[in-house]
Amino acid sequence: MPEGDTIFRAARTLHRALAGQRIVRFESMFPHLTRVHDDAPVTGRTVEGVRAVGKHMMMDFSGDLVLRTHMRMNGSWHIYRPGEAWQRPRHAMRIVIATEDFVAVGFDIPVAEMIAQRDVKRHRELQRLGPDLLGEHFDIDEATRRIRERGSSEIADVLLNQRVLAGIGNVYKSEVLLACGVSPFAAVCDVTDAEVACLVATARKFLRANVSDGLAPMTTYTGFRRTTGRSDPRERLWVYGRAGEPCRKCATPVDIRAQGRDARLTYWCSNCQRSTS
Ligand SMILES: [Zn+2]
Repeated sequence: MPEGDTIFRAARTLHRALAGQRIVRFESMFPHLTRVHDDAPVTGRTVEGVRAVGKHMMMDFSGDLVLRTHMRMNGSWHIYRPGEAWQRPRHAMRIVIATEDFVAVGFDIPVAEMIAQRDVKRHRELQRLGPDLLGEHFDIDEATRRIRERGSSEIADVLLNQRVLAGIGNVYKSEVLLACGVSPFAAVCDVTDAEVACLVATARKFLRANVSDGLAPMTTYTGFRRTTGRSDPRERLWVYGRAGEPCRKCATPVDIRAQGRDARLTYWCSNCQRSTS
């Protein structure tokens, strides 16, 4: 699943390419989108902006229309010049939005809907989102309160829960826990206030660091993510994807285990992240 920073960068890239431009072509494999297009054409509208809300991608069109997409595990938005070859097959295309200068293609996107701008604020799924780690007005107290609410849950699962904090995916989950020395399997009630503060601050730091560079790639899902601050591709992450390799802090082999209801893989160092319980 793409993390919040990936969606944020993709939104920024799409915004730079499309904002202020008139839509000259719209296509979709989703009947519920083409039905809206048939009744109130998307073609001819102006793209007013593209933004990320948690892991949701929101495209604002003129005339009170918003396209919300969610990538889940495999969805992605690419941006091309007209006539440029796509990097994914045609059958993976779900949505095409073209202006004079750019063609935005949504591949394998599982969730897409058109909503009226006035309904965005009361949209059920958006309303449930926890504080957005990449949001301008991130509410640290509210984030902390939502984490504490889940006292008996394992902290790694709580960090992944978008209703608690919006933006952390499976990579940052492991990275943030290692950075703060917290066991992924600790119940929230056994995690100290200082540790919770560290987790929230570090998650925000990592996500922001990965959207701060101006190098938004035009193909928006080629991940360039790092948490260690090192630029060597083999040294960019602390524990994620490094099962059996030595911990970068203490050289203990990195452990791996499926965790939680969705059996998401967790990487951790049993020495640096001792369970307090
Ligand atoms: Zn270690």
